[in-house]
Amino acid sequence: MSDLSVEQAALRASIHKSGLIWGSIAGLVVGGLGYWLAGSLDMLPRAAIAVIAAGGVGFASYRGIFGSGSKQAQCEKCGTPFSVRESGRSERLVSSEPRSKVEEAVPAEAVDKTKAKLSAAPAKPGKVMTKWIEDTYEVTVTSTCAHCQNVTTRLLTETRERDKQTITK
Ligand SMILES: [Zn+2]
Repeated sequence: MSDLSVEQAALRASIHKSGLIWGSIAGLVVGGLGYWLAGSLDMLPRAAIAVIAAGGVGFASYRGIFGSGSKQAQCEKCGTPFSVRESGRSERLVSSEPRSKVEEAVPAEAVDKTKAKLSAAPAKPGKVMTKWIEDTYEVTVTSTCAHCQNVTTRLLTETRERDKQTITK
């Protein structure tokens, strides 16, 4: 894998980068959690646990993302590594459904007293109804191999919410 073209190297670098970014995020989250969970310990073992947890999870996440990204970027037809790139995307609206949910309203806490006075928000609990429209899209992602021009498509389903309204009763 030493003789990668400029494009292959760039694709490899972008997969590497997203692995690093997500690996760091996962590491930070787990490290922070470890630090918090080990709250009864002394500072040094606490920090050591956080660092080990962060390092282990961060590295595992990086490996996982880089591995699956590399696999997806390898052409299944000609086997060239880092040659398959997303080349197109089309969406088709499958359904639009109105949705709603009713929640108990949290009594408004006057955290900011000046604001509470200005808006004169009722402090009594009530019901809050949220209404929105949920659109379901069928997304077709087309990928093309830079080496043999083999085109593959994959289908995804995406849901998006819009026109969110909150009604307080
Ligand atoms: Zn190919």
